[in-house]
Amino acid sequence: MPFSRRRFLARSASTVIAGLAARGAFAQPGGPPNPPPPTFTTLRRGVGTITSIGGSIGYLMNDAGALAIDSQYPNTAPAALAGLRERSPKGVELLCNTHHHADHTGGNQVFRGAVRRIVAHANCLAWHKKTAATAGTEAQQSFADTTFTDTWKTGFGDETVQARYYGAGHTSGDAVYHFERANVVHMGDLLFNRAHPNIDRPAGAHLGNWVTVLEKVAKAHAADTIFIAGHGKENAVQCTRADLQHFRDYLSASLDMARKAVKAGQSRDALAATAAIPGFEDTVQLNARLTAGFVLGQCYDELTEKK
Ligand SMILES: [Zn+2]
Repeated sequence: MPFSRRRFLARSASTVIAGLAARGAFAQPGGPPNPPPPTFTTLRRGVGTITSIGGSIGYLMNDAGALAIDSQYPNTAPAALAGLRERSPKGVELLCNTHHHADHTGGNQVFRGAVRRIVAHANCLAWHKKTAATAGTEAQQSFADTTFTDTWKTGFGDETVQARYYGAGHTSGDAVYHFERANVVHMGDLLFNRAHPNIDRPAGAHLGNWVTVLEKVAKAHAADTIFIAGHGKENAVQCTRADLQHFRDYLSASLDMARKAVKAGQSRDALAATAAIPGFEDTVQLNARLTAGFVLGQCYDELTEKK
């Protein structure tokens, strides 16, 4: 290959990776530069999503005002909050977090002055505090002031919002929020729609249990439930139960593949060099780190972990 062509390809590849990284699926302090304006999408009965970069925000608006689930980054939260206030003159009453990652809680500080309280699972708060202390970023955080361990429920106008903890998955502190009358469920990062997921093993992630969590959630909800994914291919975060089951099957297939590799004595490096999970070749990378190889490596680590 001629040098100039090779250099052109190398530069194209790095441009693609930079573009993917900018869409982000995990922590960048402050948020990636030049975020796109937020997209508000109505789903059902006052419930919708706000997407930009970082985790999708779920919202509810009714006679009681507005509430938000997750807050994205410090540099995308202001536009999300302004959009909510514009559409809901009564104000934003409540913020809930699905888990502690910076692309879901980084904007908490922006919402803090607007909302009465911030709700999260107890483990989410613990990880949020611990990771902020490690990174020395406590001053830029707003932590949850209301926590729960199994379930938490509140009335909000004519809607009821229920949070539920199903055990470890993407982290060990992921909450699932159900808008009962709208029949919409925010999954946070327990659901990546057609994209290779982030898996935070240092924060208690467990792939085997994640599969069980997705099975339980699918069983707990009706066939016409709308599920909101934390992240999705081309920002498609509105999902059906079939999408949820597709992701469960993706995780199962990844674990099966890793199990076979371990049994066959394949090295972790060889497994992590795999380009795609068979049957799930259409799954995309949200950034340079989150590949099929990353997921398989995490499966390998979980399966070979010394207890
Ligand atoms: Zn996450």
